Amino acid sequence: MPTTDTLVIRNPADGAELARIPVTAASEVAWHTADALEVHRSGVWSSAPPRARAAALLRLADLMQRDAETLARLDSEDAGKPITECRENDVPGAIESIRWFAEALDKQYGRVSTTSSDVLAFTEREPFGVVAAILPWNYPLAMACWKLGPALAVGNALILKPADATPRSTLHLAALAEEAGIPPGVLRVLPGTGAETGAALAADPIVEAISFTGSTTTGRKILTAAAATNLKRVSLELGGKSPQVLMADALAFGDHLIDGLIEAAFLTAGQNCTAGSRILVHESIHDEIVDRLSRAAAELTVGDPSDAATQIGPVIDAVAADRILGAIDTAVADGARIATGGVEVPVVQGGRYIAPTVLTELPANAEVLRTEIFGPVVTVQRFGTRDEAIALANAVDYGLAASVWTKDIDDALAVARGIRAGLVSVGTYSEGDMTVPFGGWRQSGFGGAEKSLQAFAQWSREKAIWVQSA
Ligand code: NAD
Repeated sequence: MPTTDTLVIRNPADGAELARIPVTAASEVAWHTADALEVHRSGVWSSAPPRARAAALLRLADLMQRDAETLARLDSEDAGKPITECRENDVPGAIESIRWFAEALDKQYGRVSTTSSDVLAFTEREPFGVVAAILPWNYPLAMACWKLGPALAVGNALILKPADATPRSTLHLAALAEEAGIPPGVLRVLPGTGAETGAALAADPIVEAISFTGSTTTGRKILTAAAATNLKRVSLELGGKSPQVLMADALAFGDHLIDGLIEAAFLTAGQNCTAGSRILVHESIHDEIVDRLSRAAAELTVGDPSDAATQIGPVIDAVAADRILGAIDTAVADGARIATGGVEVPVVQGGRYIAPTVLTELPANAEVLRTEIFGPVVTVQRFGTRDEAIALANAVDYGLAASVWTKDIDDALAVARGIRAGLVSVGTYSEGDMTVPFGGWRQSGFGGAEKSLQAFAQWSREKAIWVQSA
């Protein structure tokens, strides 16, 4: 039986209670997956013409556009994200992803092969049936939509398990899906805790594919549960410790460089899977970079996330704040120097706000260089040669994102190719487009990319059909 029956949703800005959301107990998950299987087998969605499914998803995108301000407010309140970030980045990106997958659906073709004059072989992709997505709290709506778009487009019945702290935009999305004409039961949102609702989904024998975005620790548990039950297809998008490599000529990028470093390190108060949290700098420009970066970080506006001028909001909760401050203390004990930040900022009582922090002079074995801090903390390390830069970049277990700042094409290509990560940018950082696959390597995940046409493969399986003519 569940140990909790409601999730108390609190605003990280001030700790105020926003809502009480009934949880789906672990014991109720099996009923939902069985019901979803019936809906799937009825064919009401899975056998609908692709154009009809695409049309419903386009109506959903239009309704999200209508309710964009509500969706932005829900994510800002639940996750403590600056409202401007939600309005300008997260919600438009989420709407765009639904539109893109709907429009791309009928651009998919199988493969045909004539193996001999009287035998034809072709492949087609089929939905799995009942599939699930388990979501993180830092991009509640956007992560839901990256998964919902392709999963529903190809005809699955989808179960979304939002993060414990941030279910409200996902619940609103489900209401809009119903309004858009997506048949009842095709999409369901099951709020609950990870240990109960999430774990039950990961172990459920009816769920044939699960896509997870969250921490590496939880990803391992989901993989283990899948292995121990029905060997469901697992896709994992996990944590990161992403390097930003500044070659000797990086200052040629001027303010664009500093803006890029700041955005990469401190977007969503650094609570970002792709956060560029390790800055690796050629020794010849180290001191100037530390100086300019620290000044720019100190100028960021830390404030109430509902204020449109705020750039850095609170961290998600007290546990996270204590963990981040503890990591800074450990770094200092390891010998680090705090170039800026390192302290809490009193913004609103009940919220926990941490000043953007730049750490330098770290010994190679400092713990802060290896573990994901998931807060507004960036480290700066020196290197001498290109090979040293690549070795430092790869000296962690993660491999999600990276950037290289140089105008030298040989350096750019050598570093980009040498870094073991799924996404590498040159002369920029936070690029993103629906046509480009997104996914990590190594302990940042595996199992299929999100975004791009490749995302359809994560949510469907290929069947080869042979036809012999008489
Ligand atoms: P988390 O792993 O704590 O939780 C993520 C989800 O998993 C939540 O819905 C939670 O309820 C659920 N969960 C927890 N325990 C579970 C279990 N035993 N079985 C099944 N589900 C369980 O992560 P978080 O704190 O919400 O998110 C932060 C992490 O997510 C960071 O590590 C960040 O880097 C990562 N992240 C990765 C990406 C990416 O695309 N690679 C994107 C965003 C966030």
